[in-house]
Amino acid sequence: MQTLEDFNFEDKKALIRVDFNVPLNAEFNVTDTSRIEAAKPSILKVLEDGGSAVLMSHLGRPKGQRNDDMSLKHICDTVSDIIGVQVKFVDDCVGEKVDEAVAALENGEILLLENLRFYGEETSGDDAFAEKLSKHGDIYINDAFGTAHRAHASTTIVAKYFAEKKCFGYLLAKEIKAIEKVMATGEKPVTAILGGAKVSSKITIIENILDKVDHLIIGGGMTYTFIKAQGGQVGDSICEDDKMQLALDILKQASEKGVEIHLPVDVLAADDFDNNANTQIVAVETIPDGWQGLDAGPRTLENFKKVILASKTILWNGPVGVFEMESFAKGTIAVGNAIDEATQNGAFSLVGGGDSVAAVKQFGFQDKVSYVSTGGGAMLESLEGKTLPGIAAILG
Ligand code: AMP
Repeated sequence: MQTLEDFNFEDKKALIRVDFNVPLNAEFNVTDTSRIEAAKPSILKVLEDGGSAVLMSHLGRPKGQRNDDMSLKHICDTVSDIIGVQVKFVDDCVGEKVDEAVAALENGEILLLENLRFYGEETSGDDAFAEKLSKHGDIYINDAFGTAHRAHASTTIVAKYFAEKKCFGYLLAKEIKAIEKVMATGEKPVTAILGGAKVSSKITIIENILDKVDHLIIGGGMTYTFIKAQGGQVGDSICEDDKMQLALDILKQASEKGVEIHLPVDVLAADDFDNNANTQIVAVETIPDGWQGLDAGPRTLENFKKVILASKTILWNGPVGVFEMESFAKGTIAVGNAIDEATQNGAFSLVGGGDSVAAVKQFGFQDKVSYVSTGGGAMLESLEGKTLPGIAAILG
């Protein structure tokens, strides 16, 4: 796997695909700078070697049209502040003007190109467009994990114009290693905690990880499809009746593969999907009609904790309750605390994909787990066992 460490950028122009798809407020100020900060180490490596950096990114979904609201000019000062170098900006990403700005770039300088998605050719993966982009650098660096699952011009197609002169940035390399640690090289016992709303959105992940884990904890809204499929009464809990057979198949596959499945045994049930609803703790297979399970119960959390504390490698994807409502957040917090303790005891813990990252940030667990993935969709596809085109393009 080629990373930045394999190159010396002295007198070289690095074309870096970063993920600067950051949130902006009404005044066009960046409200969360974490993606810019995440790209900083790769950019600094290029500059410190004595090279220059041409940064390309998308912002929002302009759908192939110029749109001033989504111009990357709005973030130029923030990027300059974070990197500590005044960043130059050019209001296009291909064409004569850009070629001139790139040619004028000196060692130690950074040029930020305009939003790639002002061109429909970016998302369609247009070859001619990718070739034009490729002219902006001597070495191509992909450091955008969030778009690595897209075969776009700047994330995938462009790589073929660099032969051997392409590599992963530090951020993307870290993501790849973290996923590898869970999916391939992790110390046993390996435990996956899957929560979230629906079985249907997690099925490919479950099928893929059954070959890789020793324990699978299932929580959240997915629980009830499994419980009902086994003959339990789930009241008004979220349940996908058409996925009950699938749930039984998963349980059978797991037992054939020697994977221990841990489902909730009790739940915090509510008489409404509301933070102020009446609640009671009930056994998971006898939830009365008119009540729905919205969080894990105390006995369940004790069981989950024991499994988590005995694990050496932990993957967490999806909350075990409706964590957005305070009344139903305790289970997700308890799981986070158990992962924190396991991590302190030496386990490797990876959180990623969809809402689990939001939950982890909301409750301040991001510094307590080993790694929080930055790429929602890309992470989910990795867990599904797919080869991401942006990663394959660098390896190929
Ligand atoms: P996902 O994006 O698949 O990880 O799903 C996350 C969503 O699942 C969150 O918005 C949670 O509120 C929701 N969720 C978790 N547990 C339950 C539950 N028992 N009933 C309904 N929704 C749930």
